[in-house]
Amino acid sequence: MTHFMCVQCAVQFANSDKPPSSCPICSDERQYVRLGGQAWTTMEEMSREHEVVLKDEDGVLSIGVEPAFGIGQRALLAETPNGNVLWDCVPLVTGAAVKALNERGKVKAIAISHPHFFSAVAEWSKALGDIPIYIHDGNRQWVMRPDPAIVFWGGETKSILPDVTLIHCGGHFEGSSVCHWKRQGKPNVVLAGDTLQVVMDRKHVSFMYSYPNVWPLNARAVKRIAGALEPFDYGQVYSAFWNMRILDDGKGAVARSVERYLKAIAD
Ligand SMILES: [Zn+2]
Ligand SMILES: [Zn+2]
Repeated sequence: MTHFMCVQCAVQFANSDKPPSSCPICSDERQYVRLGGQAWTTMEEMSREHEVVLKDEDGVLSIGVEPAFGIGQRALLAETPNGNVLWDCVPLVTGAAVKALNERGKVKAIAISHPHFFSAVAEWSKALGDIPIYIHDGNRQWVMRPDPAIVFWGGETKSILPDVTLIHCGGHFEGSSVCHWKRQGKPNVVLAGDTLQVVMDRKHVSFMYSYPNVWPLNARAVKRIAGALEPFDYGQVYSAFWNMRILDDGKGAVARSVERYLKAIAD
């Protein structure tokens, strides 16, 4: 029995003797099946040619896999006086990476923005001491490896530590969520996954129903995301890929981005 991992999205599946017949996440209209056809690996196999890399991105620890594997996202560590939260996840767990995280304080929970970043989250939870994995109820159907550590949460917000709040935004996925991280003496941060995608100018974000298939969100969905974030104070936005961050006036940048997006898709 093996936990097979989809080569395209790097999501790990429940134990099975044979690889699953397809990957529902990649067969979905928001993703795609790779040109060479559906393929499978295991974490053990991919660990031979990949490593977990930790980088400091302007004061926020980023955890990614190199060379890039699957969708290529990196996770982020929200560090607080009451413990830390691993935001989103990567498909490889190594002893060295776990040790490096533990040296920065107890990781109390993992929270995942949406199904594209489920990756090896059950393995990460185990490696960090069977910590809870927060997934919005709207993404329940996309969990490919059920695990007792998974905590489905409903509603619009969920506080998981005194300074860490999950915010349900919808949009890209019904359960798409972001993480608000309150900091002392530094700007608060929105960890955005790809619910809001920081774009290359690092001054704006954009929104898509499907990024690889270039399929925009409608006005209602974008207004819903903006409305969900409105009550929160934040100065920085970190989205899902290496170096994609807005360091100054993040809240203003989101407001300006929403405005120009809605203008662009208007009649
Ligand atoms: Zn897949
Ligand atoms: Zn996605």
